[in-house]
Amino acid sequence: MITNLISSARARAQRALRNVFCATFASSLFALGRVHRARRRILARNVVTSIYFHNPNKRLFEKCVRWLKSNGYRFLSVLEVIEIVQGRMSPPPGAVWLTFDDGFRRLLDAVVPIARKHHVPITIFIPSGIIEGDGLFPWLAPTRSRLAAGPGHTFPREAMTVTELREIAQYPEISIGSHTVTHAITTGLSSGELRSELAVSKQQLESWIGQPVVSFAYPVGQVDGREIPLLKESGYLIAVTTEASLLCADVDPFLVPRFHVGDEIPFIEAVCNMVGIWRSAIEPLQYGRLLRRGRNALGGVLPSAHRQKTHREASVQADRLHQ
Ligand SMILES: [Zn+2]
Repeated sequence: MITNLISSARARAQRALRNVFCATFASSLFALGRVHRARRRILARNVVTSIYFHNPNKRLFEKCVRWLKSNGYRFLSVLEVIEIVQGRMSPPPGAVWLTFDDGFRRLLDAVVPIARKHHVPITIFIPSGIIEGDGLFPWLAPTRSRLAAGPGHTFPREAMTVTELREIAQYPEISIGSHTVTHAITTGLSSGELRSELAVSKQQLESWIGQPVVSFAYPVGQVDGREIPLLKESGYLIAVTTEASLLCADVDPFLVPRFHVGDEIPFIEAVCNMVGIWRSAIEPLQYGRLLRRGRNALGGVLPSAHRQKTHREASVQADRLHQ
């Protein structure tokens, strides 16, 4: 019990330290005019800013929506983005598409009401088997075991239920996409498993919500190219990665990039993410003395160079396979 208290106090302290550092760094990017210039460049080009969240708090999400609205952005639905990636529509100035991976239950209070209030279309990518099952995300198991109160202890669901999903899918602002059945990383699957993860999740989601499911998000953003013909075969029209760049008109519809906004980060850092300057600005610091010393204390603030490299290589391979 005492160990649990110490470890959660340490995690809170790390988070607070990380946020102070990142807010200060983000403020310096504002002061140097980098945010303003990046936003101006985006608004002058025919591009879509595509953004993904996981489980943001309500305050952060609403501030992001208000900032985008008051800074000249225009929110697109997944169907409009499909029109763009298929070459039938040009992106309007300041086009932005908001997406959410995993289907956390907190979205029901923190995101869905805000999207409805501001008439903002959003797309939520759901791992259907987790929603249908106990609602616990496998990758959060280490956290749960650290916090376990003893044998027989049960944890509340982390994902929304099928009933909740069915209800929110009826709102005009909400679109549902697939995120496989089990949140399997598709690059590690056999062809049979891959085909099943893509097709079964689509069928399950469609049977629950009574609408076509045409969008897909690769779990953890990993893709090796074998997915693309199978996604097409299953009837998907668009798939999103975690490659941090703007969506240009000549993008492959099955390799659509997105910028990430973290769950509990300072708002000023979220703005740097949304205009696409955060990763390139902070990455060089990864190798600096300050962060060599403070990396542990900063608790994962920095993008993982290894993961990005792997993803880029996978995208190149996907391109090759796709040609
Ligand atoms: Zn995910």
